[in-house]
Amino acid sequence: VSPAAVGIDVGGTKCLGVALGADGEVIDELRVPTPNDPDRLVAVLAQMARDLGAVGALGIGVPGLVDTHGVLLAAPNVTAVTMLPLRELLEHSTGLRVAVDNDNTVACLAEWRVGAGRGVDDVALVGLGTGIGGGIVAGGRLQRGAHGFAGEIGHMIVERGGRRCPCGQRGCWERYASGNALAVHAREAAASGRLNGVVQRAGSIEAIRGEHVTAAALDRDAEAEAVVTTFVEWVAVGLVNVVNVLDPAVVVIAGGLSAHAELFLPPIRREFESLLFAGTARSRPSLRFAELGPNAGAIGAALLPQVS
Ligand SMILES: [Zn+2]
Repeated sequence: VSPAAVGIDVGGTKCLGVALGADGEVIDELRVPTPNDPDRLVAVLAQMARDLGAVGALGIGVPGLVDTHGVLLAAPNVTAVTMLPLRELLEHSTGLRVAVDNDNTVACLAEWRVGAGRGVDDVALVGLGTGIGGGIVAGGRLQRGAHGFAGEIGHMIVERGGRRCPCGQRGCWERYASGNALAVHAREAAASGRLNGVVQRAGSIEAIRGEHVTAAALDRDAEAEAVVTTFVEWVAVGLVNVVNVLDPAVVVIAGGLSAHAELFLPPIRREFESLLFAGTARSRPSLRFAELGPNAGAIGAALLPQVS
């Protein structure tokens, strides 16, 4: 039986491919290491599409900037791949109609169609990972912007002259509220002599990762809880900015935090409510964690040709 749709999520370390059945359910999965080489990347993706039985169309999600012609301009974690006309090359090598978009954009499509945002016409996805990415559905349509770059919410500048960002600017939201930023806040606190419990768990200040802070806060370590509070306040600042611009019905928060909703979601909601414009007078969006987990990008990629 041929799958109804096939999609591949290109990650920094691996490519995850899925084949979907008629109701959007995952019927087959495939994982292949991501080659840091443009020619081999195209060859790997074409072979994965064949192995998953793609018929007619193929969708691809990539961790970088994709223009409206399906050209991958740059991907921070696949450094050798720049200005790659991925759609055109894959169409030639597979004979399929190919659609390519940013990984958070396709994750938003997936959560909207079959995940936490289903049933409404206006969804914002906020992906808190190494950085922060976003996806936007407005008026029942997936938004790309004029050039394909809509939803780069991680680079909203929230502190002028603030922390340096790999993008070259300072004060970008992802430096304060990404999954990685939780560890950065903790290392700063530890460097000023606090957070001994977290340092012990990690082994050293440099080794502190977000999961050490999360584990300590779940054990009611007061200094770790204070770091979580700082982090949550920064998360809420960006969420409020996104909601003040887009007025979505649902905000889907994706990333590793969703494994600990009980720790993060109540304070995010409280802080969000306190910062939202006209908070008491308006209808508020529902803040939810993502439902599709690490499969969201590949599922969204599979659904992409239907909306492209
Ligand atoms: Zn930036």
